[in-house]
Amino acid sequence: MSVNYAAGLSPYADKGVCGLPEVFDSPEELKVKVETLAQLIKESQYLVVHSGAGISTSTGIPDFRGPKGVWTLEEKGESPHFDTTFEDARPSLTHMALLGLQRAGYLKYLISQNVDGLHVRSGFPRDMLSELHGNMFVEECEKCGRQYVREKVIGVMGLKPTGRYCDVVRSRGLRACRGKLISSILDWEDALPHRDLTKADEASRRADLALTLGTSLQIKPSGDLPLLTKRKGGKVVIVNLQPTKHDKHAHLRIHGYVDEIMKQLMELLGLDIPKWEGPTICESSTAPSESSADFNAIIAKEEVKNDIKKEERKRLAEPQADDEQVKEETVSVKRERAESPAGTDEEK
Ligand SMILES: [Zn+2]
Repeated sequence: MSVNYAAGLSPYADKGVCGLPEVFDSPEELKVKVETLAQLIKESQYLVVHSGAGISTSTGIPDFRGPKGVWTLEEKGESPHFDTTFEDARPSLTHMALLGLQRAGYLKYLISQNVDGLHVRSGFPRDMLSELHGNMFVEECEKCGRQYVREKVIGVMGLKPTGRYCDVVRSRGLRACRGKLISSILDWEDALPHRDLTKADEASRRADLALTLGTSLQIKPSGDLPLLTKRKGGKVVIVNLQPTKHDKHAHLRIHGYVDEIMKQLMELLGLDIPKWEGPTICESSTAPSESSADFNAIIAKEEVKNDIKKEERKRLAEPQADDEQVKEETVSVKRERAESPAGTDEEK
């Protein structure tokens, strides 16, 4: 079964800038830039990667604002083309290279706007990953917050009930939670998932290098997170074919196919790209991963407190970024866990 993600969302007027022409660095220029990136990664203490739909186009899943993107085509009254289903899509070279960077200790945290589930299915540790817009394969218990990663797409969007119930056993094994499971996919107006956003915010402040891959950085607050790294004195490197909203903040911009750039990067770092052997789920960076056979039995290891009320899950915007356009929304997410480790942060 395939679900057209875009068609499942509510109509929404402002989809940002779509269909900008793509830019390509010459092969020589690209090589020099990737060498610079490799050096920056070697020197970094805390690398955070921000991924967008551009890293999945090579798997057959369309992006949103590229020349053949979902919203670009919608503006022309055309429909997007899927070369695959979400279930059949294989993680790209970039997905696997990111897993290699994590295993080698370079990549400390991964923040994704993608809902295609490919980071999770690649075996990337879920405790080092924030999926800010949800995951087509994940449903969550409304009552206790447990997440279930399924083998098939959930088929429901917009944080709506999926018709299934939580089977976590509570009260010393006497009864199951039986909370309603809801889709993890956000609709336009939904607040971002509290735990994922808090961890993403924290990692972005801690990072000394933010690498963005295949995102036009237009969606708030996800697209503004790399600016937190810059404000803390870190560097931002942007890899994208089209211009992005935050190009002027970048220390380095690389225009090329992300799979080609990651391939060159891994060679320069002397790292192997792990082979994909089917859907794999890894809950924790310190625990062994599970094979797909165990998929439906797996629940998130991390306890989610039941008292995270919906009204607390407000969007987090960036009040002090040096870009005026960034100001519009309010910050009402609880921030006590979102301070940088240095504790020097003066955020509101
Ligand atoms: Zn539950």
